Amino acid sequence: MNEPILLDRPDAPLVQGYEVIIGFETHSQLSTQSKIFSRAATAFGAEPNTQACAVDLALPGTLPVMNKGAVERAIAFGLAVGSHIAEKSVFARKNYFYPDLPKGYQISQFEIPVVQGGQVEFFLGDRPMSVRLVRAHLEEDAGKSLHEDFIGQSGIDLNRAGTPLLEIVTEPDMRSSAEAVAYAKELHKIVTWIGICDGNMQEGSFRCDANVSVRKPGGKLGTRREIKNLNSFKFMQQAIDYEVRWQIEQIEDGHAIQQATVLFNPDTGETRAMRTKEDAADYRYFPDPDLPPLVIAREWVEQVKNQMAELPRAMAARFVADYGLGEYDATQLTQSLALAAYFEVVARGSGAPKLASNWITGELARRLNAHDLGIEQSPLAAATLAALVVRIQDGTISNSAARQVFDALWDDASASVDAIIEARGLKQLNDSGALEKIIDDVIAANAKNAAEFKAGNDKALNALVGQIMKASKGRANPQQVNDLLRAKLS
Ligand code: ADP
Ligand code: MG
Repeated sequence: MNEPILLDRPDAPLVQGYEVIIGFETHSQLSTQSKIFSRAATAFGAEPNTQACAVDLALPGTLPVMNKGAVERAIAFGLAVGSHIAEKSVFARKNYFYPDLPKGYQISQFEIPVVQGGQVEFFLGDRPMSVRLVRAHLEEDAGKSLHEDFIGQSGIDLNRAGTPLLEIVTEPDMRSSAEAVAYAKELHKIVTWIGICDGNMQEGSFRCDANVSVRKPGGKLGTRREIKNLNSFKFMQQAIDYEVRWQIEQIEDGHAIQQATVLFNPDTGETRAMRTKEDAADYRYFPDPDLPPLVIAREWVEQVKNQMAELPRAMAARFVADYGLGEYDATQLTQSLALAAYFEVVARGSGAPKLASNWITGELARRLNAHDLGIEQSPLAAATLAALVVRIQDGTISNSAARQVFDALWDDASASVDAIIEARGLKQLNDSGALEKIIDDVIAANAKNAAEFKAGNDKALNALVGQIMKASKGRANPQQVNDLLRAKLS
């Protein structure tokens, strides 16, 4: 297509003196029950060819009928990224021969796509970034060739043929593999958040093609190679890094880069050319005479807009304004709709949003990570964590006692917070008489630390506090312990 207009990025990191230029095409499978032009089911994992109807098989006399749900999802995406939703877009035939493409062409959109322009905004570390979108267009997926090595034959499974895809194309705005991965993660977050795609990368519901070239800063745009079908963020990073090193080596050795489509092999960590790249002319695109132009009335766009949930960035801003959270925590808590919903239940249920945020992004996140669980599978219900936060907030238990309660809840999610506090005697020691007794005992048993503190070593106090917290089984209030200790030792 047209030569892209490059962003001026003087901040771009260089690799061996080269600037890396990356643009993405992402195939996002739309979460409709039925296919884009037929009534066959789209569910993943069915027996081969049980979900391909006459239209998907391209039997003579069949005609495609547009699935309204797919269009609605495209509209929702456009709204989420600030695009123009075309009043009228056109389906086109992309002609090529391949065994898994029964019609001999793919129905796609070419000159006039449904979603035009827009941008994806995200943070890379604490740097705000924006990647411009060229377009997003509706198209149908192809079938799959299955190579059955054990019988030495290949078969065609047409279950996937006709599955609705939204292909999302960026300008070449990314300048490193890290930026590319951050973009892809943000895009993944958007499509799953608004519910247009299940985001399952292993099943191929979200596949990225990375177009990569290198050039000397300010020099002529390099020739790109396109790494196809990256279906994990880890492979994405590895594939791009390898590709960049390979291209630089070729250029340094005096070889020109040939435009090509390449595949990444996770076993070797290398990219390898699959075919030289076709140009648009090779596909002999023309408007599909079987489908009328797709007309989208403004009322329809309004309707979709009214049904959409609050978007992540708007929600994060609200968390900052309403709950007094920092930007960083608010961003963390809006990584997924499920996590954000969980937080809101804990924040409202406890009336202590900051403490709720600390526990969710701290202890709970660590635990979930360690067990490879998502928030949806958290053994601790949000209401239970809210009850725990209430007891910390009202001073019933200390933070370290709260961790013990948390452990108990993790192991037995049906237990009640108050019952655990009661059964384990974890109520904070607010009675300074009992506390003073413990402090006196600990000072007597750790005379060396006490003497060191008196001699001016402030760190020695921490050792004493630790001992006292231990002796009180975590029930002492650390601040109170600190105050009492200092008073006694000065
Ligand atoms: P196709 O790959 O289907 O021919 P396009 O021409 O629309 O489609 O370009 C695909 C992608 O390649 C876009 O994301 C675009 O930004 C990116 N791109 C184009 N030229 C370059 C380049 N020289 N280096 C890196 N990316 C590029
Ligand atoms: Mg391409």
